[in-house]
Amino acid sequence: MEAKATKSIVSITRCQDYSPSQVYQAVKTSLEKVDGVHELLRNGKKRVLLKPNLLSASQGPERAVNTHPAVVRALVDFFQKEGGAEVYIGDSCGSLRSSSTNKAFKVTRLDEVTQETGARWINFDQNKPLEIQKNKRAVLPKFKIASIVKEVDLIVSLPKLKTHGLTKYTGALKNTLGVIPANGKKNVHIQAPKPSNFAQALVDVYEEVIPHLTVMDAIVGMEGNGPNAGEPRKVGLIIASTDGVALDAVASTIIGFEPMAIPTIKYAHERGLGTGELKKINVLGAEIQEVAVPDFKKPSSAAQDFAMKYLPDAVFAKFFDVSTSCTSSVYERNCTRCYACVKNCPAEAMSIVEGRVVVDKNMCIGCFCCDEVCDYKAIVMERSTLGKVFLSIAKFLKVERV
Ligand code: SF4
Ligand code: SF4
Repeated sequence: MEAKATKSIVSITRCQDYSPSQVYQAVKTSLEKVDGVHELLRNGKKRVLLKPNLLSASQGPERAVNTHPAVVRALVDFFQKEGGAEVYIGDSCGSLRSSSTNKAFKVTRLDEVTQETGARWINFDQNKPLEIQKNKRAVLPKFKIASIVKEVDLIVSLPKLKTHGLTKYTGALKNTLGVIPANGKKNVHIQAPKPSNFAQALVDVYEEVIPHLTVMDAIVGMEGNGPNAGEPRKVGLIIASTDGVALDAVASTIIGFEPMAIPTIKYAHERGLGTGELKKINVLGAEIQEVAVPDFKKPSSAAQDFAMKYLPDAVFAKFFDVSTSCTSSVYERNCTRCYACVKNCPAEAMSIVEGRVVVDKNMCIGCFCCDEVCDYKAIVMERSTLGKVFLSIAKFLKVERV
């Protein structure tokens, strides 16, 4: 898809809970307002790929880590009924081990969705990989994606509204990382270890597989230390757009971020992949102010950004990485010694010493991959010294919202 020249539309529809009829109605209402959805369905039978966010292979829908199955089901029903489409559901979960994605599919109860609707499940870790070559200036000059992503007629991204310790917020742009099969994600973290180049790497991937449509599950989001260790928070919304960047700008604003302070949104906007500026977005349905949740808890690593908004751009750019970088450590009291984190560390910075998990701080790249698979809130991401200084400034200025 090419970048859009006209004003992007984002539709916001209220949806109070996950009862199937409510979700279907909210999705349908939302899509009726989005430009071009019915054009997408015209011209005969289509192959539609739904890409939910299946981060966790162990936490069920009530934990608000993964896209809720009722939202996936509503989209399957919509495309089957309205477009007679052949629907696929596919992802690679947050684990760097390929055995986990089928578990994520089951724990999210998507197996029931496929059984009831005939939609086909595609485990991206087991799908034929396709190598993508980008120009040499890209942070990721080459990477592999699941080939199904390029074979279908329509890609529909179904992100979950959550905070993220590394990228601050996770939505449409971040959801695209899942098109890279398990082990390939390890290379992304190794090639892009700093927060700013990781955000650019995410935009590199998004640029290759821009979804035709994005429908966000913002009925119950995750606040605090997302994407896995935060707490569920009701927001009560379905948000939809054909411009994922605009959708991220609107959704992040609803939960109290400044969109252009989210690096993925800023970089995608600058590259012309969508609209990150609110004034250039046409919001339909509910208004942002009516549905905003400004006290939505931010990840603890986001605090310094609020302080940094008082600094000139050049200073912000210079200090962004050093202030936002973290290293991991293990909170022994919560640790069950399951070792999921050790197996998921792309930098091999974790080891087991006399049963305890030990992090080599010199090797840790602060990628949050351990945090993403720990179900016991036993990973603590510690800020850099400069990050702590900015956090203190944020608290002093009373802009700390954690
Ligand atoms: S920190 Fe979490 S993932 Fe790692 S061993 Fe302990 S409980 Fe398991
Ligand atoms: S210890 Fe955790 S944050 Fe550090 S590199 Fe390993 S997975 Fe990433």
